[in-house]
Amino acid sequence: MGQSLKGRTALVTGSTSGIGQAIAELYASEGAGIVLNGFGDAAAIEALRRRLSGHGASVEYDGADMSKASEIEAMMKRIGDIDILVNNAGIQFVSPVESFPPERWDAIIAINLTSAFHTTRLALPAMKRKRWGRIVNIASAHGLIASPNKSAYIAAKHGLVGFTKAIALEAAEHGVTANSICPGFVHTPLVEKQIQDRAKELGITPERAARDVILAPQPTKEFVKVEEIAAMALYLASPAAASITGTAISIDGGWTAR
Ligand code: NAD
Repeated sequence: MGQSLKGRTALVTGSTSGIGQAIAELYASEGAGIVLNGFGDAAAIEALRRRLSGHGASVEYDGADMSKASEIEAMMKRIGDIDILVNNAGIQFVSPVESFPPERWDAIIAINLTSAFHTTRLALPAMKRKRWGRIVNIASAHGLIASPNKSAYIAAKHGLVGFTKAIALEAAEHGVTANSICPGFVHTPLVEKQIQDRAKELGITPERAARDVILAPQPTKEFVKVEEIAAMALYLASPAAASITGTAISIDGGWTAR
């Protein structure tokens, strides 16, 4: 690939899997230094780190738990200035609100929303000083519209879209942009769990649950690919996107066009 991000350093939270990993891979292939973050098998994470460092720039890993402000603060202090911040770490839990476990609500709000507040407040001063920065928040179609039984996730993602707009306004005169990407369903471990749960619940095959239940609201009836999200995250970091700020960009196969 090219060298369009040469000299930049990007932190991608939750980049040991799925969408975050695809963004880290594309950014690394474009010459960016990368800070990986997220949970998972230590050997697999080290293999990913080594593979990405093959592109030339430095790639490090920090296992900060994004539900804990103190761990986020320690990570941000340790890694120093970053040019691109991708707030991607996220979890899901599906339940009617009456039986939604309060500790799951707290975890979703902490990881999917509050972590972006902490990383942003700590990364922004250096971006403003350098007069260049990119903040890319991975929200969701559920940052724009709702579905039943996902109240915490939908509250967090709507919050993230709003937070992004506020930061875009605060940073607008400092060369820093902030945008949300709002994916529809992407076939990652986060969605695989929902497919398996729905198949079990309805007594149907996972293939049928994916096609007839999970993809029902997505007009293309195809999962969005992680590479498509990564390509938008790269575009948002490019000079061509300098005036794109405060937006929520849908990549959802037409879901929110309904
Ligand atoms: P995934 O489960 O494949 O990856 C989630 C990542 O977040 C992993 O690296 C995981 O280790 C990390 N993570 C989870 N809890 C963490 C914590 N406490 N601290 C640090 N890291 C933590 O899921 P994904 O589908 O790639 O999701 C990535 C983002 O995209 C999430 O914010 C999700 O809400 C959003 N999203 C996903 C879809 C989809 O259909 N998959 C759609 C819209 C939005």
